Amino acid sequence: MVGVLGRDLWIVWMKSHTSATLCLLMATMDPHKKLLTLLKRHFGFSSFRPLQREIVEDSLNGKDVVALLPTGGGKSLCYQLRAMAAEGLTLVISPLIALMKDQVDAMSELGIPATFLNSSLTPEESLERRRGLDEGTYKLLYIAPERLVMEGMLDQLKRWHLAFVAIDEAHCISEWGHDFRPEYRQLASVRARFPEVPVMALTATATQRVRDDIVKLLELRDSRPYVASFNRPNLSYRVIARHQPLEQIVEVLDAHKGESGIIYCLSRARTEAVAKALAERGFKACAYHAGLTPEERTRRQEHFVNDKAPIIAATIAFGMGIDKPDVRFVIHHDLPKNLEGYYQETGRAGRDGLPSECVLLYSPSDYAKLIGFIEEISDAQEKESARAHLGKMMRFAESARCRRIELLGYFGETYANEGGQTLDSCGACDNCLTPRESFDGSEEAQKILSCALRIHRKSGFSVGLHHLVDVLCGAKTEKIRKFGHETLSTYGIGTGHGRAAWLAYAQELAEKGLLVVRTDKFNIAEVTDKGLEALRGKQTVMLRRPLVSAKLSTEQRHKQRQKTGAVEVATELFEELRALRLRLARERGLPAYMVFSDATLQAMAALCPQSRDEMLDVVGVGEKKLAQYGDSFIEILRGWKQRKT
Ligand code: ADP
Ligand code: MG
Ligand code: ZN
Repeated sequence: MVGVLGRDLWIVWMKSHTSATLCLLMATMDPHKKLLTLLKRHFGFSSFRPLQREIVEDSLNGKDVVALLPTGGGKSLCYQLRAMAAEGLTLVISPLIALMKDQVDAMSELGIPATFLNSSLTPEESLERRRGLDEGTYKLLYIAPERLVMEGMLDQLKRWHLAFVAIDEAHCISEWGHDFRPEYRQLASVRARFPEVPVMALTATATQRVRDDIVKLLELRDSRPYVASFNRPNLSYRVIARHQPLEQIVEVLDAHKGESGIIYCLSRARTEAVAKALAERGFKACAYHAGLTPEERTRRQEHFVNDKAPIIAATIAFGMGIDKPDVRFVIHHDLPKNLEGYYQETGRAGRDGLPSECVLLYSPSDYAKLIGFIEEISDAQEKESARAHLGKMMRFAESARCRRIELLGYFGETYANEGGQTLDSCGACDNCLTPRESFDGSEEAQKILSCALRIHRKSGFSVGLHHLVDVLCGAKTEKIRKFGHETLSTYGIGTGHGRAAWLAYAQELAEKGLLVVRTDKFNIAEVTDKGLEALRGKQTVMLRRPLVSAKLSTEQRHKQRQKTGAVEVATELFEELRALRLRLARERGLPAYMVFSDATLQAMAALCPQSRDEMLDVVGVGEKKLAQYGDSFIEILRGWKQRKT
């Protein structure tokens, strides 16, 4: 990657030059080497992630580009590096005012002069920043799209030598996306006013329709789209039959002590309930949804980002623009509406490239709830499309194939290794770790089907799967008493399996067409003709053993970590480095990850650098951070080495 100079040579070269001589030298350097120098100097990286280099170079050559990289693919670096490699001001359009401060703080930690203008600033602050812009102090200016079209803004940009425009979260321009922002539609006005200034649109969206909208609505010129693989090799996906969700969530949390994660829930009330229950058990969790005041939302977001409340139970209103790189798990308490949403939400885990888990708690009853919402959509075509998307989501949840292959397949991508060879399992998902064993479930099928028939015969109506399973398991519910279902001969015959397993079996019978869940009639489950036939003919029915525990065995955990690229380092040392990072971050009022990412601390623990020179070899250690924090970390690493030898 390092071109003419080999990597080691290049680093030696880096180390022997001060910033001032660097600048002089860079003016005469070939463009590729110049980018690599800036990459190490500001960001501390010695190689590009896929397509970053191509995107930056194309843009520097004056082209419009569309960067379609998955979350964590390193989109910000594309425009930040681009900004540092050229004269003039870079304008960054970003949808969320609340997150601009974070982005600008992160820039300043990297030694990159950046600022933002938004309504949160006092008139004095705003004036000062404008003065800075007049004087050319800043390389990057972040603003929200609505501000761009305000009186005089475009004139000011002209004065400030606008050289390049980056549009982050560019999918917001499309109504087909999941975060449509009408203000994004006005962005074409910059193009009209500054026809010569190149535009870079960035998004993690995977849908073609949204991509087409971006090119069309931003009026991009002969822009080449750069599409990276949407595989996230460090994420593992599991689907568990939801049974006792709180216990199952705690099982996941127990495997991630002290780490950060998101629990997505369908309803606002559920986010509150989950956060409360977790807090009662001693977890630092809080809830997030659109029903909170904007101030409260910002406060909770900050708590999450600063690790004061590292666990957040949220609706899908949460997530876009949260750049926290060390989210180690994403749990879905309920089934998402479609796979695009599922992919975006799970994508918020592991931006830093370290192994992270995505666990979906799935219950067939979610389908009923979601289809209910869909029925309320008035536009027939939209309704049909929503139904089809939900169907695909269901099939994903119920699939016995490798989750990674299924997910990539949905986006039209084949799962392959770096050499392009197609792979048939990822080794890290639930279906790869625990292939679900088939067994002769004829007896179980008989019990479920005959129970459904008995209920219908006694009451003259059918019931939903949950009630059916309650009767089988001999539950003492209000509803059972009301209908007198405890007198049925099938009441309580469901011994030998837990309730979650019975629910999964009943659902599988529905998948096989022996039962039908009537979404048009309160989701009642009726025995079909095929079901009757199976019951009378005493046919063999094969069923799959469901997965009801979110706990992994030691071997499974090991395999999962290995397959998602874990590097094992001394835990004790890693924790010491983390504690120092937290202290430094708190002193400076910054989120911990802005000091150094987990990936950087891990590399430090593995390399154990003993000097500033060696420290510069660590991924994520650039010049500014070396000067600012290097010595404190070296001290710990020296102490550790002495104790070990
Ligand atoms: P995106 O916006 O595409 O979701 P980010 O810009 O937030 O991704 O980057 C995700 C993480 O990847 C950040 O922690 C960033 O520092 C890191 N990163 C970006 N580019 C590189 C690179 N070339 N090498 C190593 N890490 C990188
Ligand atoms: Mg981003
Ligand atoms: Zn797999």
